[in-house]
Parts: sequence; structure tokens; C-alpha cells
Amino acid sequence: MNKRTLAAEYASHSEAIFKCPVCNSSMRVFELKNLICSNNHTFDFSKQGYINLMSHPVKSMYNRSLFQARRKLITEAGFFEPLIQAIAEMIYKHAAIERESLSLIDTGCGEGSHLFNICESIRSKYQKTVTGVGIDISKEGILEASKSYANKIWTVGDLANTPFMNEQFDVILNILSPSNYNEFNRVLKADGLLIKVVPQTSYLKELREIIFNQPEKQSYSNTDTVVRFNENFQMVDNSRISYTLLLDKLSIQSLVEMTPLSWEAPKEQVKSFLDEDTTQITVDLEILIGKKR
Ligand SMILES: [Zn+2]
Repeated sequence: MNKRTLAAEYASHSEAIFKCPVCNSSMRVFELKNLICSNNHTFDFSKQGYINLMSHPVKSMYNRSLFQARRKLITEAGFFEPLIQAIAEMIYKHAAIERESLSLIDTGCGEGSHLFNICESIRSKYQKTVTGVGIDISKEGILEASKSYANKIWTVGDLANTPFMNEQFDVILNILSPSNYNEFNRVLKADGLLIKVVPQTSYLKELREIIFNQPEKQSYSNTDTVVRFNENFQMVDNSRISYTLLLDKLSIQSLVEMTPLSWEAPKEQVKSFLDEDTTQITVDLEILIGKKR
């Protein structure tokens, strides 16, 4: 079977989760080629295996090299490994102990490494069956995801109008990515879990210090984000994950490429960072865990 057919076959086991982005009616996988709604709106599986469920095309500011850089940094430098393990443990503790199988959606999944790694960790450490769905508005990100990781449902879609029925997911992941709390509330099961990861004060501080001349921009505050989280969900747990990594030259380059804040920085400053053979970099993140109110 080719990748298109395999992806359609995999999605057919979960076809009840889909909602037509045009008319909101239910959808089904048709002839292992496309997803079709009861009013005949049709969306094709691509030859790489993702499905584009945007009702209108959107131009993304992120290009393919950003997603490739991110995947390299994650897979080769283990950049987010402690975070991934912490999230898997949180999911087990708060959502998976009594469940045999779990459905996860990563909102703003980009090139898909976080979703893949978290699903793998839950499956291998805790022997749970996991269905993983990734959604991102960027076609470039989803294209990379579908090329790298099979046995996931990869969708290009709008977070403000997610192409999924109500109360379909046990866990929503939202990692360093914008939130849409109305949609999170709608698609999360009544006893489901929202896991949001936000930067903490020292996140990438070595890079920020080089890029920004103003001290107030060199650290980061997530106070507003946490307030908004609390307004929409009931926080049941939270955890701060801090560590430093020693990056080699290639990983430094990947980090700069995947970090939008470095794009606006003075070229000279970025170059001095890129010229280092190795550099220490701090990852400082907070995991917020919420349930529906
Ligand atoms: Zn429709």
C-alpha cells in the first residue's frame, strides 16, 4: 500500500471524529482516497498521507526550512526530551491510569515530532494504545510531519474552526503555540485534559541576550498566558521544567533557524552566536494542566 492509502486506512478507524469544515456535517473515508461529508464536500488524502481540511487557503509565515530545523534539533540534539518525558508522565497520572486507549490531539503540531514522541513514550512506558492527531494551519509543517511519521492523522486545519466533532479527545496538547480555548472546550471530552506548555523566564536566555539590547526583553514573562488559561480551564497541576544543553555548531544553526525572534535580530549579533563551536542553552518551560470547568 502507498502512503496515501495507508493514511486513509488508518484514519478510517477514527472517521467519526471528523466534522466537515464547510457545513459541519459528519464525514467518512471514501475508497481510501478522500474524506467526504454527507453533503459531498470532499477532501483528498495527499500522496504523503496528510489531509488538508482548510475551507480556504491560508499563507503561513513559516517555511519548510524552519520545520526541518526544528525536527533536527529535536531528533538529533534531544532538545525537548525532558519535556516530552514530563508530559507523558502527566498524561499517565491524570488521564491514562484507568484507560486502555487514549486519543491525543496536538494543536499547532508543526512538523509533528512532539506528538510522535509523546505517543511513543506513553505506548512503550505505560502499554497504552494511543491515537494521535496533529493539526496545524501550516501545510509545510504537516507535510514534514506526514513524511516523517506514519500511523498518525495529520491535518492541515484552522484552530478557530477545527474539523472535529464535539468531545472527541482525551488529551489536547498545546505546546509553545497559540490557544483557542473555545475550540479546546468543544473538542475535549468532559473528563479530558488540556496540556499547555509555555516559556518560563529563562527560556533560550543565551539567545535572547544576544538578540535583544534591552534587558526587559531578555527575559520572558508568561503571566498573561497563565491568567487566560485559568479563566478558561481549571488548573489541576503544573510543573516547571528547566535544563541546559550543550549544542554543537549544527544544532546552534538549527536553533537559530527555528526561532522566529532571531529573524528580526541584527545580523552581526546572530552571526557571533552562530560562530561558536559549542554553546550552552537554557530550556525553561512550564507545563499547565487543566480540566474543563
Ligand atoms: Zn460538508
